[in-house]
Amino acid sequence: MDAGSITSATPQKPPLKILLCSPRGFCAGVVRAIDAVERALAVHGAPVYVRHEIVHNRYVVEALKAKGAVFVEELSEIPDTKVPVIFSAHGVPKAVQTEAGERDLLAIDATCPLVTKVHREAEIHFRRGRRVVLVGHAGHPEVVGTMGQLPDGAVVLVESVADVQNLQFGDESKLAYVTQTTLSVDDSQEVVEALMKRFPSIVGPHREDICYATTNRQAAVKEVAPKVDAVLVVGSPNSSNSQRLREVAERAGAPARLVQGRSEIDWSLFGNVSTLGITAGASAPEVLVEEIMDAFAERFDITVECVPAASENVFFPLPKELRATG
Ligand code: SF4
Repeated sequence: MDAGSITSATPQKPPLKILLCSPRGFCAGVVRAIDAVERALAVHGAPVYVRHEIVHNRYVVEALKAKGAVFVEELSEIPDTKVPVIFSAHGVPKAVQTEAGERDLLAIDATCPLVTKVHREAEIHFRRGRRVVLVGHAGHPEVVGTMGQLPDGAVVLVESVADVQNLQFGDESKLAYVTQTTLSVDDSQEVVEALMKRFPSIVGPHREDICYATTNRQAAVKEVAPKVDAVLVVGSPNSSNSQRLREVAERAGAPARLVQGRSEIDWSLFGNVSTLGITAGASAPEVLVEEIMDAFAERFDITVECVPAASENVFFPLPKELRATG
């Protein structure tokens, strides 16, 4: 047979360059919260109750459920029990801690220390007689938890510059602001600038409330987005920091999609894409990024380049109730 007549049965895969954002995925607060549930299961056995999704990621929640974690939205769903009840990384209102105490539940607080920092700031402002303005998204568990550190009405929530224009205070000389940890750095800056313009004596945080993980992941996606045809953000729709990554990518010029895993990829969108950025929200495990890269490798001849925007070495120890058992 003439070797020149042999044709390959496998069609050539189109080339695709993937720019992988770094850092991406798990932050120190998420690692700590997941470790807390796993440690509690190892020490106390199943079941262990968790109030609210420990972190906003379906894969993580399902994996912990399979190991014996039982997720509830309110403590009223939990019977009187001696097994641990873990509060999620997003934090809880004081009333929840009080309720756990009154019921003598073994509460373990996995609130991220950087969220707790915002809680303490709000308390200090309140003690100094200041009205507290919280910049954040209504209904997000972190916002509910931060507002719930102070009595009803002590915290005013603003979501936008327009909300700032509508604020009315009797005494404008006694004001302070704090922010949700997972906001868009740029959007929140606009809101904070509007606050400072309207209320020049307003007191702000000594250090930025938006956490290092949110800031670094947004910086990485901002660097990658102008160089690619599209960006994929791995994360859950209810993950604030994942949604912000999608928005930051779009503002930086790349169409962006949020997907929870490879099964959610809409392949019709990638026909003409030759460069793709990939990042992951702070609650999305790396295994999901790897699965998505594998899915692209099945359809494209991929080359991967890592784009580092910051290095991270933050570590938070386990909640104190679990440390002695570690
Ligand atoms: S995103 Fe930031 S505030 Fe939220 S858990 Fe991670 S480190 Fe903590």
